[in-house]
Amino acid sequence: MTQISTVDKLIKPEELGKTLMHEHLQTGMPGWTTDPIAPAPDKREVVAKCVDRIAEMQASGFTTMIDPCPNDLGRDVELMADVSARTGFNIICATGLYTGELGATAYWRLREQMNSDAAQYIAEGYIKEITQGVGETGIKAGMIKLSTGNAPLSDYDAILIEAAGHASLATGVPIITHTEAVLGDVQQERLTAMGVPAHRIVVGHSCGCDDFEYHMKIATGGSYLGFDRFGLDMVVPDATRVASLAKVIGAGAGDRVVVSHDTVWCWLGSFISEEMHEQLGINTNPLHFTNVIMPQLLEAGVTQAQIDAMLVDNPRRYFAGEALSTLGGQT
Ligand SMILES: [Zn+2]
Repeated sequence: MTQISTVDKLIKPEELGKTLMHEHLQTGMPGWTTDPIAPAPDKREVVAKCVDRIAEMQASGFTTMIDPCPNDLGRDVELMADVSARTGFNIICATGLYTGELGATAYWRLREQMNSDAAQYIAEGYIKEITQGVGETGIKAGMIKLSTGNAPLSDYDAILIEAAGHASLATGVPIITHTEAVLGDVQQERLTAMGVPAHRIVVGHSCGCDDFEYHMKIATGGSYLGFDRFGLDMVVPDATRVASLAKVIGAGAGDRVVVSHDTVWCWLGSFISEEMHEQLGINTNPLHFTNVIMPQLLEAGVTQAQIDAMLVDNPRRYFAGEALSTLGGQT
Protein backbone atom coordinates (compact mmCIF):
# COMPACT_ATOMS: atom_id res chain seq x y z
CA MET A 1 0.00 0.00 0.00
CA THR A 2 1.34 3.40 -0.99
CA GLN A 3 2.11 5.82 1.80
CA ILE A 4 2.88 9.47 1.15
CA SER A 5 5.24 11.47 3.34
CA THR A 6 3.78 14.85 4.21
CA VAL A 7 5.97 17.20 6.26
CA ASP A 8 4.59 15.79 9.54
CA LYS A 9 2.97 12.44 8.89
CA LEU A 10 2.33 9.54 6.55
CA ILE A 11 -0.96 9.51 4.65
CA LYS A 12 -2.67 7.29 2.11
CA PRO A 13 -3.47 8.62 -1.39
CA GLU A 14 -7.23 8.59 -0.53
CA GLU A 15 -6.52 11.03 2.29
CA LEU A 16 -5.18 13.73 -0.04
CA GLY A 17 -8.63 15.09 -0.89
CA LYS A 18 -8.88 18.37 -2.76
CA THR A 19 -5.30 19.22 -3.72
CA LEU A 20 -3.37 22.11 -5.22
CA MET A 21 -0.32 20.59 -6.86
CA HIS A 22 2.13 23.51 -6.92
CA GLU A 23 2.14 26.41 -4.45
CA HIS A 24 4.89 27.88 -2.26
CA LEU A 25 4.86 29.08 1.33
CA GLN A 26 8.22 30.78 0.90
CA THR A 27 10.83 31.15 -1.80
CA GLY A 28 14.21 32.87 -2.03
CA MET A 29 16.26 33.07 -5.19
CA PRO A 30 19.87 31.89 -4.73
CA GLY A 31 21.97 34.83 -3.59
CA TRP A 32 19.33 36.51 -1.43
CA THR A 33 21.48 35.89 1.65
CA THR A 34 24.23 38.08 0.13
CA ASP A 35 21.99 41.16 -0.11
CA PRO A 36 23.03 43.50 2.75
CA ILE A 37 19.93 45.70 2.35
CA ALA A 38 17.38 42.90 2.27
CA PRO A 39 15.24 42.74 5.40
CA ALA A 40 15.67 39.69 7.61
CA PRO A 41 12.61 37.48 7.33
CA ASP A 42 10.17 37.93 10.20
CA LYS A 43 9.41 34.31 11.06
CA ARG A 44 6.27 35.08 13.02
CA GLU A 45 4.89 37.19 10.22
CA VAL A 46 5.71 34.49 7.67
CA VAL A 47 3.98 31.77 9.71
CA ALA A 48 0.93 34.00 10.30
CA LYS A 49 0.63 34.78 6.60
CA CYS A 50 0.91 31.11 5.61
CA VAL A 51 -1.61 30.02 8.26
CA ASP A 52 -4.07 32.66 6.99
CA ARG A 53 -3.71 31.52 3.39
CA ILE A 54 -4.25 27.91 4.37
CA ALA A 55 -7.29 28.76 6.50
CA GLU A 56 -8.81 30.33 3.37
CA MET A 57 -7.99 27.22 1.34
CA GLN A 58 -9.54 25.01 4.02
CA ALA A 59 -12.69 27.11 4.03
CA SER A 60 -12.87 26.38 0.30
CA GLY A 61 -12.58 22.62 0.88
CA PHE A 62 -8.88 22.09 0.18
CA THR A 63 -7.04 19.58 2.36
CA THR A 64 -3.61 19.25 0.69
CA MET A 65 -0.97 21.27 -1.14
CA ILE A 66 2.34 20.38 -2.69
CA ASP A 67 5.16 22.86 -2.05
CA PRO A 68 7.76 21.64 -4.54
CA CYS A 69 10.34 24.29 -3.62
CA PRO A 70 13.79 23.15 -4.77
CA ASN A 71 16.54 22.73 -2.16
CA ASP A 72 18.36 25.79 -3.49
CA LEU A 73 15.39 28.23 -3.55
CA GLY A 74 14.99 28.95 0.14
CA ARG A 75 13.13 25.73 0.95
CA ASP A 76 12.26 25.68 4.66
CA VAL A 77 10.71 22.34 5.63
CA GLU A 78 10.50 23.31 9.31
CA LEU A 79 8.35 26.30 8.37
CA MET A 80 6.14 23.92 6.37
CA ALA A 81 5.88 21.50 9.32
CA ASP A 82 5.08 24.36 11.70
CA VAL A 83 2.29 25.65 9.44
CA SER A 84 1.00 22.12 8.90
CA ALA A 85 0.87 21.48 12.67
CA ARG A 86 -1.01 24.75 13.27
CA THR A 87 -3.60 24.09 10.55
CA GLY A 88 -3.87 20.30 10.22
CA PHE A 89 -3.40 20.86 6.47
CA ASN A 90 -1.40 18.30 4.44
CA ILE A 91 1.77 19.83 3.00
CA ILE A 92 4.08 17.69 0.88
CA CYS A 93 7.62 18.93 0.26
CA ALA A 94 10.11 17.87 -2.39
CA THR A 95 13.81 17.22 -2.82
CA GLY A 96 15.57 18.50 -5.94
CA LEU A 97 17.72 21.19 -7.47
CA TYR A 98 16.68 24.17 -9.59
CA THR A 99 17.85 24.78 -13.15
CA GLY A 100 21.37 25.52 -14.37
CA GLU A 101 20.12 28.98 -15.36
CA LEU A 102 18.59 30.03 -12.03
CA GLY A 103 19.67 27.58 -9.33
CA ALA A 104 22.55 27.71 -6.87
CA THR A 105 24.81 26.24 -9.47
CA ALA A 106 28.36 27.23 -8.44
CA TYR A 107 28.70 24.52 -5.79
CA TRP A 108 27.23 21.84 -8.02
CA ARG A 109 29.25 22.81 -11.08
CA LEU A 110 32.44 22.44 -9.07
CA ARG A 111 31.22 19.12 -7.66
CA GLU A 112 30.40 18.02 -11.18
CA GLN A 113 34.00 18.65 -12.25
CA MET A 114 35.30 16.68 -9.30
CA ASN A 115 32.84 13.82 -9.50
CA SER A 116 32.75 11.36 -12.37
CA ASP A 117 29.13 10.47 -11.74
CA ALA A 118 27.48 13.69 -10.61
CA ALA A 119 23.96 12.40 -11.28
CA GLN A 120 24.48 9.46 -8.98
CA TYR A 121 25.92 11.70 -6.25
CA ILE A 122 23.01 14.15 -6.50
CA ALA A 123 20.55 11.23 -6.48
CA GLU A 124 22.07 9.93 -3.23
CA GLY A 125 21.24 13.27 -1.64
CA TYR A 126 17.65 13.10 -2.89
CA ILE A 127 17.32 9.52 -1.59
CA LYS A 128 18.64 10.63 1.80
CA GLU A 129 15.98 13.36 2.01
CA ILE A 130 13.22 10.93 0.98
CA THR A 131 14.17 8.07 3.29
CA GLN A 132 15.78 9.81 6.29
CA GLY A 133 14.67 13.41 6.06
CA VAL A 134 16.04 16.88 5.30
CA GLY A 135 19.16 17.65 7.34
CA GLU A 136 18.59 16.55 10.94
CA THR A 137 14.87 17.44 10.92
CA GLY A 138 13.50 13.99 10.14
CA ILE A 139 11.08 15.74 7.76
CA LYS A 140 10.89 13.60 4.65
CA ALA A 141 10.44 14.71 1.06
CA GLY A 142 7.34 13.11 -0.47
CA MET A 143 8.39 13.71 -4.04
CA ILE A 144 11.27 14.70 -6.32
CA LYS A 145 11.45 18.13 -7.96
CA LEU A 146 13.11 18.18 -11.34
CA SER A 147 13.83 21.49 -13.07
CA THR A 148 14.99 22.24 -16.58
CA GLY A 149 15.37 25.64 -18.24
CA ASN A 150 15.13 26.81 -21.82
CA ALA A 151 16.00 24.71 -24.86
CA PRO A 152 18.41 23.33 -25.85
CA LEU A 153 18.79 21.10 -22.79
CA SER A 154 21.97 22.08 -20.92
CA ASP A 155 24.48 19.53 -19.62
CA TYR A 156 23.65 20.66 -16.08
CA ASP A 157 19.90 20.11 -16.54
CA ALA A 158 20.55 16.74 -18.22
CA ILE A 159 22.35 15.65 -15.03
CA LEU A 160 19.33 16.78 -13.00
CA ILE A 161 17.02 14.61 -15.13
CA GLU A 162 19.27 11.61 -14.57
CA ALA A 163 19.52 12.24 -10.83
CA ALA A 164 15.72 12.52 -10.51
CA GLY A 165 15.34 9.27 -12.43
CA HIS A 166 17.81 7.39 -10.21
CA ALA A 167 16.17 8.66 -7.03
CA SER A 168 12.62 7.89 -8.19
CA LEU A 169 13.60 4.36 -9.22
CA ALA A 170 15.38 3.79 -5.90
CA THR A 171 12.52 5.07 -3.71
CA GLY A 172 9.33 4.77 -5.77
CA VAL A 173 8.57 8.43 -5.09
CA PRO A 174 7.01 10.41 -7.96
CA ILE A 175 8.55 13.34 -9.85
CA ILE A 176 7.09 16.83 -10.33
CA THR A 177 8.89 19.10 -12.74
CA HIS A 178 9.61 22.72 -13.54
CA THR A 179 9.78 23.59 -17.22
CA GLU A 180 9.80 26.79 -19.24
CA ALA A 181 6.92 25.14 -21.16
CA VAL A 182 9.54 23.45 -23.35
CA LEU A 183 11.54 20.22 -22.90
CA GLY A 184 8.76 18.55 -20.90
CA ASP A 185 8.67 15.92 -23.62
CA VAL A 186 12.45 15.48 -23.26
CA GLN A 187 12.10 15.06 -19.49
CA GLN A 188 9.47 12.38 -20.16
CA GLU A 189 11.56 10.63 -22.84
CA ARG A 190 14.71 10.51 -20.73
CA LEU A 191 13.01 9.47 -17.50
CA THR A 192 10.94 6.73 -19.11
CA ALA A 193 14.05 5.49 -20.95
CA MET A 194 15.61 5.00 -17.50
CA GLY A 195 12.58 2.96 -16.45
CA VAL A 196 10.53 5.56 -14.58
CA PRO A 197 6.84 4.89 -15.36
CA ALA A 198 5.37 7.82 -17.33
CA HIS A 199 2.45 8.11 -14.90
CA ARG A 200 4.87 8.94 -12.06
CA ILE A 201 5.73 12.25 -13.73
CA VAL A 202 3.89 15.59 -13.60
CA VAL A 203 5.33 17.83 -16.31
CA GLY A 204 4.98 21.15 -14.58
CA HIS A 205 4.18 24.55 -16.08
CA SER A 206 2.87 22.92 -19.25
CA CYS A 207 0.29 25.72 -19.39
CA GLY A 208 3.06 28.21 -20.22
CA CYS A 209 2.45 27.60 -23.92
CA ASP A 210 -0.60 26.96 -26.08
CA ASP A 211 1.09 24.27 -28.19
CA PHE A 212 -1.60 21.58 -28.42
CA GLU A 213 0.76 19.07 -30.05
CA TYR A 214 3.25 19.50 -27.20
CA HIS A 215 0.52 18.97 -24.63
CA MET A 216 -0.85 15.89 -26.37
CA LYS A 217 2.62 14.40 -26.89
CA ILE A 218 3.15 14.42 -23.12
CA ALA A 219 -0.42 13.27 -22.38
CA THR A 220 -0.28 10.46 -24.93
CA GLY A 221 3.09 9.48 -23.52
CA GLY A 222 1.21 8.77 -20.30
CA SER A 223 2.35 11.58 -17.98
CA TYR A 224 0.40 14.28 -16.18
CA LEU A 225 0.29 17.85 -17.46
CA GLY A 226 0.66 20.54 -14.83
CA PHE A 227 -1.69 23.42 -15.63
CA ASP A 228 -0.20 24.92 -12.54
CA ARG A 229 0.42 28.60 -13.22
CA PHE A 230 -3.08 30.05 -13.32
CA GLY A 231 -2.87 33.74 -12.53
CA LEU A 232 0.71 34.18 -13.77
CA ASP A 233 -0.38 36.54 -16.50
CA MET A 234 3.16 37.83 -16.96
CA VAL A 235 4.02 34.48 -18.63
CA VAL A 236 0.80 33.66 -20.48
CA PRO A 237 -2.68 35.18 -20.05
CA ASP A 238 -5.23 33.04 -18.22
CA ALA A 239 -7.50 33.11 -21.28
CA THR A 240 -4.84 31.13 -23.16
CA ARG A 241 -4.53 28.63 -20.31
CA VAL A 242 -8.29 28.14 -20.12
CA ALA A 243 -8.57 27.63 -23.89
CA SER A 244 -5.62 25.18 -23.92
CA LEU A 245 -7.01 23.23 -20.98
CA ALA A 246 -10.49 22.99 -22.52
CA LYS A 247 -8.87 21.66 -25.71
CA VAL A 248 -6.78 19.06 -23.84
CA ILE A 249 -9.85 17.90 -21.88
CA GLY A 250 -11.86 17.81 -25.10
CA ALA A 251 -9.22 15.48 -26.54
CA GLY A 252 -9.83 13.04 -23.68
CA ALA A 253 -6.77 13.87 -21.57
CA GLY A 254 -8.63 15.34 -18.58
CA ASP A 255 -7.65 12.32 -16.49
CA ARG A 256 -4.00 13.44 -16.63
CA VAL A 257 -4.10 17.13 -15.80
CA VAL A 258 -3.46 18.67 -12.38
CA VAL A 259 -4.02 22.33 -11.57
CA SER A 260 -2.43 25.00 -9.40
CA HIS A 261 -1.05 28.57 -9.45
CA ASP A 262 2.64 28.50 -8.46
CA THR A 263 1.91 31.28 -5.97
CA VAL A 264 4.67 32.39 -3.60
CA TRP A 265 3.29 33.74 -0.33
CA CYS A 266 6.56 35.01 1.19
CA TRP A 267 9.70 36.05 -0.66
CA LEU A 268 13.10 35.97 1.03
CA GLY A 269 15.24 39.05 0.34
CA SER A 270 13.86 42.29 -1.08
CA PHE A 271 12.68 40.60 -4.21
CA ILE A 272 9.09 41.38 -5.06
CA SER A 273 6.80 43.63 -3.02
CA GLU A 274 3.02 43.19 -2.82
CA GLU A 275 2.58 46.20 -5.15
CA MET A 276 5.00 44.77 -7.69
CA HIS A 277 2.99 41.54 -7.79
CA GLU A 278 -0.02 43.50 -8.93
CA GLN A 279 1.91 45.59 -11.44
CA LEU A 280 3.52 42.52 -12.96
CA GLY A 281 0.28 40.54 -13.11
CA ILE A 282 1.38 37.91 -10.60
CA ASN A 283 -1.46 36.34 -8.66
CA THR A 284 -0.74 35.41 -5.05
CA ASN A 285 -4.17 33.96 -4.20
CA PRO A 286 -4.34 30.14 -4.18
CA LEU A 287 -8.14 30.37 -4.57
CA HIS A 288 -7.84 32.07 -7.97
CA PHE A 289 -8.59 28.77 -9.73
CA THR A 290 -11.71 28.16 -7.65
CA ASN A 291 -13.02 31.72 -7.78
CA VAL A 292 -12.01 32.91 -11.25
CA ILE A 293 -10.89 30.04 -13.46
CA MET A 294 -13.53 27.42 -12.63
CA PRO A 295 -16.43 29.56 -13.94
CA GLN A 296 -14.44 30.22 -17.13
CA LEU A 297 -13.84 26.49 -17.63
CA LEU A 298 -17.54 25.74 -17.11
CA GLU A 299 -18.29 28.46 -19.64
CA ALA A 300 -15.86 26.79 -22.06
CA GLY A 301 -17.80 23.52 -21.80
CA VAL A 302 -15.72 21.70 -19.17
CA THR A 303 -17.95 19.85 -16.68
CA GLN A 304 -17.83 20.13 -12.89
CA ALA A 305 -16.96 16.42 -12.74
CA GLN A 306 -13.95 17.01 -15.02
CA ILE A 307 -12.84 19.91 -12.80
CA ASP A 308 -13.23 17.81 -9.65
CA ALA A 309 -11.12 15.07 -11.25
CA MET A 310 -8.23 17.52 -11.72
CA LEU A 311 -8.45 18.59 -8.07
CA VAL A 312 -9.08 15.24 -6.37
CA ASP A 313 -8.93 12.07 -8.48
CA ASN A 314 -5.87 12.88 -10.58
CA PRO A 315 -3.59 13.82 -7.65
CA ARG A 316 -4.75 10.67 -5.84
CA ARG A 317 -4.04 8.38 -8.80
CA TYR A 318 -0.69 10.07 -9.44
CA PHE A 319 0.50 9.51 -5.87
CA ALA A 320 -0.98 6.00 -5.77
CA GLY A 321 1.03 5.18 -8.88
CA GLU A 322 -1.98 3.91 -10.82
CA ALA A 323 -1.29 3.44 -14.52
CA LEU A 324 -3.17 5.74 -16.88
CA SER A 325 -5.39 4.35 -19.60
CA THR A 326 -4.31 4.40 -23.21
CA LEU A 327 -4.86 7.69 -25.01
CA GLY A 328 -4.83 8.18 -28.76
CA GLY A 329 -4.08 4.54 -29.58
CA GLN A 330 -0.72 4.43 -27.82
CA THR A 331 0.19 2.29 -24.85
ZN1 LIG B 1 7.09 26.77 -8.33
